[in-house]
Amino acid sequence: MSRAPGRRAPRDLAALRKTVARLSLPGKAGAASGLVLERARKLLDIYLATAEAHGQSFEATAKALRAGVPALRIGGADLEAQATRPGSPVDSAACAAGCAFCCILNGEDGGVILEAEARGVHRALLPLAGAPDGRDWHPRACPALDPATRLCRIYAARPMICRTYLSTDAEACARIAEGVPAAGPGVLGAQGLYLAVQALARAALKGVTQVPTYSLAKVAAAALDGRSETEALTASRQAPRVLEDERARLGGAL
Ligand code: SF4
Ligand code: SF4
Repeated sequence: MSRAPGRRAPRDLAALRKTVARLSLPGKAGAASGLVLERARKLLDIYLATAEAHGQSFEATAKALRAGVPALRIGGADLEAQATRPGSPVDSAACAAGCAFCCILNGEDGGVILEAEARGVHRALLPLAGAPDGRDWHPRACPALDPATRLCRIYAARPMICRTYLSTDAEACARIAEGVPAAGPGVLGAQGLYLAVQALARAALKGVTQVPTYSLAKVAAAALDGRSETEALTASRQAPRVLEDERARLGGAL
């Protein structure tokens, strides 16, 4: 992450807010992604101002940022607003229960999720350890999928990456799952906002704590192997560049 030369790591909330206000992030900032970043910055500052007003400690706030709490709150509120707006892309989506081509995780990263989501996925799946999983239907399917019904077995705990993906054409999703490009699927803009908030949190906390992302496929597989939460998070931790790669990939969000 880029930062001003010689910047000291923040040690209180006032310094953290100033850091967030000044940060730039790596990568090409097109007009759209620049707007998303500025919106993320404003909303993250509101989160931090509220934490400060309520006397929340710097340590507790840093822990929440690391876990992705503000990213999930801000992204979740944006998703709800986008999904319920008249003319929303959700209105023309072909998505239906049991349609699961989007649960075939073809990307090398296995799906980018944040710490709070990784813990939630692990908690929801651990009781199902040893049962058949999504990979019994398709080798690259998300392990959280029920191979018989093709329903998500952790629907309430599914991460933002799943909540924001939709398509106007299920056949296009089937082709994409087999590696053939097709038009139809897209990602709602809330996903880009959530990732931008987390990228800012990571950059602002440089020198304080690391802010990793995790592979959905790997944390789910580890839970279903009966591995502990610590083992699952260690096995599924992604390289730092994955978050920036994901932000760049989402340039054309809906
Ligand atoms: S995104 Fe595609 S595969 Fe997933 S539920 Fe919607 S139409 Fe089906
Ligand atoms: S968590 Fe659920 S919705 Fe998301 S990819 Fe896995 S099975 Fe599909």
